[in-house]
Amino acid sequence: MIFKRSPIKKQYLIIRRIFPMATELKTFTGSQFINKPVLADIEFIPHLEKINDFAATNGLEIYVTSSARPWGVPVAGAIIPPARMSNHLIGHAIDMNIQIGRKLYTSHELGDFNSLPSTIQAFFTAIRKHPVLHWGEDFSDPVHIDDRLNKNYPNTWKQKLPIIQSELTGLTQPGIRAVNSPRLLFLTTPLMEGNDVKAVQEKLIAQGFDLGITRADGLFGPATSQAVAKFQDREDLDPIDGMVGDKTRQALGL
Ligand SMILES: [Zn+2]
Repeated sequence: MIFKRSPIKKQYLIIRRIFPMATELKTFTGSQFINKPVLADIEFIPHLEKINDFAATNGLEIYVTSSARPWGVPVAGAIIPPARMSNHLIGHAIDMNIQIGRKLYTSHELGDFNSLPSTIQAFFTAIRKHPVLHWGEDFSDPVHIDDRLNKNYPNTWKQKLPIIQSELTGLTQPGIRAVNSPRLLFLTTPLMEGNDVKAVQEKLIAQGFDLGITRADGLFGPATSQAVAKFQDREDLDPIDGMVGDKTRQALGL
């Protein structure tokens, strides 16, 4: 046998060859995903669903700290070197902590596999066995999961980069988008800022929701996101995700 590739992996490679590349920035929320929505390329969404399944099976919550990132944004005080083909730049990676009940497992705990609870071990074992997913602990980054697209398909990575980066820019800088297509508002890093955020805050404050500020400041921070979720809950909107899309905007009277 010359080819010792697993059948699943081979199938995935064939699928990649048959279907043309689809690249589009999407937001993902899963039953086990908490803290903030994931920003991801449409082709990474099925893998996020898989991660969600593995987390559900093991009774864990994925506490998202970072996903798609704009080029050159400081992370913990350091600028990401642009030369590095990070999967975060194309929306094919997440950074996370793991939460069980009220206990949050951060990089410190996650880096010591043998000391982890068996459910977290089972979760990462499932990730390791998956034909595409890849856990960062294997290159000493235990909070990171990606699909190795940068390593396996560097040309696809290069094609996706400008598309995802321009969509990220469109999300965080309202002026770049058409005025008549309101953007989706949600908690991200850096925080979304603009008059559209301010309008949402003014409506929430007028209805008595606590935003931790007395006057709208136009910054979509955690308190604003939580107030949106409470508003959605009160209005029986679905989903309750703390994000402002068409339905929530309409319910707010905007
Ligand atoms: Zn990462």
